Amino acid sequence: MLYLDNSATTPILPEVKDKMLTYLSNEYGNPSGKYYQLAVNADQAIKESRTHLSKLLNSKEQEIIFTSGATESNNMVLKGVADYYTHKGKHIITSKAEHSAIMDVCEHLETKGYEVTYLDVDQYGRVNPDDLKEVMREDTILVSIMWGNNELGSLNDIEAISSICKEHNVFFHTDATQALGKVEINWDELDGISFLSCSAHKMHGPKGVGALAIRSDQYGKLIPFTPLFHGGGQEDGIRSGTYSVHNIVGFGEAARIAKKNLDKNRKQLNKLELRLREILNEKFHDNIAYNSDTKDKLPGVVNVQFIGLNNEVLLKKLAPIIAASTGSACSSAKPSHVLQATGLDLKAVRESIRFSFSPYSELSEVEIFNEL
Ligand code: PLP
Repeated sequence: MLYLDNSATTPILPEVKDKMLTYLSNEYGNPSGKYYQLAVNADQAIKESRTHLSKLLNSKEQEIIFTSGATESNNMVLKGVADYYTHKGKHIITSKAEHSAIMDVCEHLETKGYEVTYLDVDQYGRVNPDDLKEVMREDTILVSIMWGNNELGSLNDIEAISSICKEHNVFFHTDATQALGKVEINWDELDGISFLSCSAHKMHGPKGVGALAIRSDQYGKLIPFTPLFHGGGQEDGIRSGTYSVHNIVGFGEAARIAKKNLDKNRKQLNKLELRLREILNEKFHDNIAYNSDTKDKLPGVVNVQFIGLNNEVLLKKLAPIIAASTGSACSSAKPSHVLQATGLDLKAVRESIRFSFSPYSELSEVEIFNEL
């Protein structure tokens, strides 16, 4: 079976699993303990992971806060900033193509008296930065626009968006869950980005661990906001809760490997995607339509409409040989709000499938599409 649902989750790399096992067995210390070796070792392991992740993001180590995943990181920023800066304003800007871990939080905030502007997106799910300029207001406290789209693979113009936010002195959060490990994340250069969410399990790390990068000022002080969790004061009080050491270690190792292989992986993903498109074009001619763009996108993600074929029926038929999905794993029961936001009608949405490669897929494996 060819696994092509890597945007939903990825298998853990053997090196990652091996590192994690140490912290699931002998090295069971609580890093907050400090006075004995087991605790010191766990603390050291967390520090190393922070270093690996900061190298992948090009951030400072102290700007990284470990969380349970991107859903938590997104909740943390949106709710935390909304609460802390409510005296400044109650207006938030996002896009119609965000993951439900943003959309649902925004809808929740609307019930609490916040006003959310949902920007339209183009046919590939991208925000036009000029549209953002037009909706910025005096009372805007936060802009949240994703880096790479989980259903289409499209990349937003993060450079332009971050500089608009900087100009307007408004916090900018980006959900980089799909982008991390696939494209260069230049956090250091793009200092208009205030917050960035990411997750380990999209890049061959474990599930249940992620991070939030928070911009620091020249004195090393992180942007303040109300924490989601109160408790033991871990992560400088920003994210209380005992460290999930084995998961954080796994994330660190996955980040180290992703950084080392970034170029190689990108090339391989592009090759895989190109071959898939070639085969689909040869086999299906005018009976398919691509929802994903060919440029300015995450490599290895292809969303395609099989005209006249119901996607769920097709996916079930394909399942013994190819594992793919209709889009977001988190809300697959509902027709994709992302595809609808790009202008597709419901029929086209129900005929669309996302194939997402891993850089560890072999080119020869793609030939399985010739057997359809
Ligand atoms: N944001 C995006 C863009 C995603 O693709 C996902 C996962 O599908 C999430 C957030 C949620 O991430 P996690 O599973 O780490 O909570």
